[in-house]
Amino acid sequence: MKPLPLIRKQSVVVYSIFLILVVTAVIFWNSYYSLKKFEESTDALLLSKARLAEEVFGTLSSDLLSNPDRLQQKVKELKLGESDIAAIIVYVRSENGEGFRSIASTDQEDVGNIRSEFPYFLAWEEEAGSAYISNDSGVRYWNIFRRIDSDGERKGLVFFRFSLAENDAFVRSAIDRVYGVAFVTLFLVFLLLLHHLRFSRYAIRALELEEVDRMKDDFISMASHELKSPMTIIRGYVDLLGSECGPEERKDYIGKISMNADRLTLLVDDLLDVSRLEQGRLPMRMTETDLGGILKPLIVDYGIIAQEKGLKFLFEDAAFPAVYADPERVKQILVNLLSNAVKYTPKGTVAVTVKERAGRVIVTVADTGLGISSEDLKNLFSKFYRVKSEQTEQITGTGLGLWISREIARKMEGDLEVESIKGVGSHFSLFLKRMN
Ligand code: ADP
Repeated sequence: MKPLPLIRKQSVVVYSIFLILVVTAVIFWNSYYSLKKFEESTDALLLSKARLAEEVFGTLSSDLLSNPDRLQQKVKELKLGESDIAAIIVYVRSENGEGFRSIASTDQEDVGNIRSEFPYFLAWEEEAGSAYISNDSGVRYWNIFRRIDSDGERKGLVFFRFSLAENDAFVRSAIDRVYGVAFVTLFLVFLLLLHHLRFSRYAIRALELEEVDRMKDDFISMASHELKSPMTIIRGYVDLLGSECGPEERKDYIGKISMNADRLTLLVDDLLDVSRLEQGRLPMRMTETDLGGILKPLIVDYGIIAQEKGLKFLFEDAAFPAVYADPERVKQILVNLLSNAVKYTPKGTVAVTVKERAGRVIVTVADTGLGISSEDLKNLFSKFYRVKSEQTEQITGTGLGLWISREIARKMEGDLEVESIKGVGSHFSLFLKRMN
């Protein structure tokens, strides 16, 4: 069978690659767009938090430190309506100087507590304030310390803590959205690809069937030609037999009729073998087979045919090992190889050798004939395949012999292989199982 035009097979691959590229681009664009939006939104969120912090620090001035009740009220006012604010605590240095005492807090119970951890002392030293992020049972907080100064003196500390829960929820939802869209898109592409591959398979199968159909058409026209020409010859000689003719001519005509009838029988046998092999009902009678007994008479017959054609025919007689095979089928294969060698060799040599290797007996029919191109070699053992060239145009054949021969050889646990160079010649090797 001819290979499908490469471009047709490639279009299937190109389409799949195109699909993958487009989808990757969509996912990429979606991620990029979402991240851009996300960046803008988080910027806005953080800005509003920063403003909130500024408002808190701006409001809590040193004047209020001397009026704890007013301070407490102010702290409560600031917290009111701002769900993000987790805590506002105002500290002054404790009387013994060992820590910081809270004088106002969003949590009333916290008032009066003394803190002496490192961040408090750090904030006391840092005019610019300090900030850190903490994690409390899965919720992140932004903690900011700011010193309250007045007339160049350190008066107190404000601790401000606000929740990043809103921010984090937004980040999570943005990431989930990106993953969600990517996953859904990939799933859709996967479905599309499956669908596409299924249809591609059908399309390739349809193209292959088209090719088989074309080969069958070729075969039918060839088979009709092959059937018609011997029949025409037979009819012609039958007519001649009916007319006045001498005993010599009569003998000659009958011989020609018989030869053409054999040709017809061979063609019909080939067709029957194809159908039996395809249906797996070709009978095989495997037995101990005398290879020499089959090969030698054929060498004599084909030696004569080769000589008549002006070819050199080489064969070294020897004692051949017995093989495990069906004798009739071995003969059928050898006839096919020998007749092909003679048929496709216009001048030169046909040589037959027998070798033994690794429990197998190998019969090689070599010729210095037309040879076969590597492109044709790929399809040589396909049914109905015939090399099309100017030189083979005039040579009759069905393109079934090699297919039948290889199928039969394999059924006998053997094989049929070919090595050939166009314009140089061919080597066909039949592998048979050696009798133990
Ligand atoms: P056919 O009836 O056409 O000879 P085969 O199946 O025996 O059918 O061979 C298939 C094709 O292989 C042939 O048509 C021919 O082109 C090529 N072929 C077979 N044997 C040889 C050979 N010894 N040298 C060159 N070409 C060959």
